[in-house]
Amino acid sequence: MKPTHIEHIGIAVEDLEMAISYYRDVLGLECYAVEEIEDQKVKTAFFKVGDTKIELLESTDREGPVARFIEKRGPGVHHIAFAMENVGEALNNAREKGIRLIDSQPRKGAEGLQIGFLHPKSTFGVLMEFCGKK
Ligand code: ZN
Repeated sequence: MKPTHIEHIGIAVEDLEMAISYYRDVLGLECYAVEEIEDQKVKTAFFKVGDTKIELLESTDREGPVARFIEKRGPGVHHIAFAMENVGEALNNAREKGIRLIDSQPRKGAEGLQIGFLHPKSTFGVLMEFCGKK
């Protein structure tokens, strides 16, 4: 079980509108979706770069995980998401190999995809996400 590609890179921003205009006006990318994900307390904006997406994340709550991330580490790269055929199997596989998980089972993420996070303590400081259709 290995990732097929980098599905997206999540970037924590303080101001979604300002970040969107950078990606649009400087890089010439089109923002094709803005979506609020309530249980993660974020508003997201998506851009496509080839097969990979950029996912901008603005916290909708002071206490949300992205707000806390920015407080601790400042805005910037928040997580890397790998495209997996089967997120549940990929999470099980990682657990069997001793990796600490944030999500023991897949849950629903942006764009109707199944997602699951691995703990950065187990992944060399990078928050990693598995992401896929099932
Ligand atoms: Zn993500």
